[in-house]
Amino acid sequence: MIPAQFDYLAPTTVEEAVSALAEHGDEAKIIAGGQSLLPVLRLRLNAPEMIIDLGRIEALRGVRDDGDAIVIGAMTPHAAVQKDPLVAEHAALISRAVDHLADAQIRHRGTFGGALAHADPAGDLGAPAIALGSQFVIAGPSGTRTVDADEFFVDLFETAIGEDEILTEVRVPKHTGWGAHYEKFVRVAHQWPIVAVAAAVRAEGGTIAEARVGLTNMGNTPIRARAVEQALVGQPATEEAVAAAAAHATEGTNPPADLNGDSDYRRHLAGVLTRRAVLAAAGA
Ligand SMILES: Cc1cc2nc3c(=O)[nH]c(=O)nc-3n(C[C@H](O)[C@H](O)[C@H](O)COP(=O)(O)OP(=O)(O)OC[C@H]3O[C@@H](n4cnc5c(N)ncnc54)[C@H](O)[C@@H]3O)c2cc1C
Repeated sequence: MIPAQFDYLAPTTVEEAVSALAEHGDEAKIIAGGQSLLPVLRLRLNAPEMIIDLGRIEALRGVRDDGDAIVIGAMTPHAAVQKDPLVAEHAALISRAVDHLADAQIRHRGTFGGALAHADPAGDLGAPAIALGSQFVIAGPSGTRTVDADEFFVDLFETAIGEDEILTEVRVPKHTGWGAHYEKFVRVAHQWPIVAVAAAVRAEGGTIAEARVGLTNMGNTPIRARAVEQALVGQPATEEAVAAAAAHATEGTNPPADLNGDSDYRRHLAGVLTRRAVLAAAGA
């Protein structure tokens, strides 16, 4: 179907984009890569009168080093994140997750910030972003604010970004030297995950010193598996010890049921995939 008629603005600065949002209020919608928004418009599930395109704001693109964190601009395409050397060195978990995100065409158009702002519980970027303790920088009419990982995802397709605000960048604390693995379970290639697990591990001589684990599609938002993380610390990176810790993966989850599998099936997957992801991240 063809989308309903809309007006179009392409500002070149964040300030102009925020002003345009304030001016057009409920009638306006931000577009980034359009990979999730355009299907919604074409199905006429949403019919904004004004589309504000962030594609010409150069300041929102790219990855930079900022001391103890790397900063990923919201409009950085998935494909650029995937091959960025700073991401590979300091936030390898994000590189591993993007490797599994959709197909090459969508990775070239879709953006890091667009995927996080969209907040699909099956999206591949939320779990690694929260596992690494990312901070989300949001610009609005009264300036810029920073939201911690635990507070960014609010509910199904809902984040802490207000209707008059724009996600500008994501600060990812450096996890240099950590092993990382994203274990995604799908029935066919390029599908959204039925369940996926993001794991980063810092090992010292065969013992797990620190661990970060995030779960995809095990509730309305991505979930940090803190019980697993705590159970892993001080354990040897062996099949038996990691399996015992992975048994905590379902704590605090509320997995959906759909044609791909019921909630119990997803709980089973969470345990199995957590074990696999942690062992791979630990290099075991
Ligand atoms: C066939 C197909 C398969 C896919 N498979 C996967 C997959 O396996 N895994 C996966 O994770 N994703 C998948 N995706 C989604 C893909 O990751 C999209 O890139 C992503 O969901 C949206 O990013 P975008 O830049 O295209 O955002 P858009 O579609 O432009 O925007 C999405 C939403 O976010 C809002 N938004 C965008 N940017 C901002 C911002 N900076 N500030 C505030 N609000 C903003 C928009 O208003 C809109 O509501 C798939 C998409 C398609 C079409």
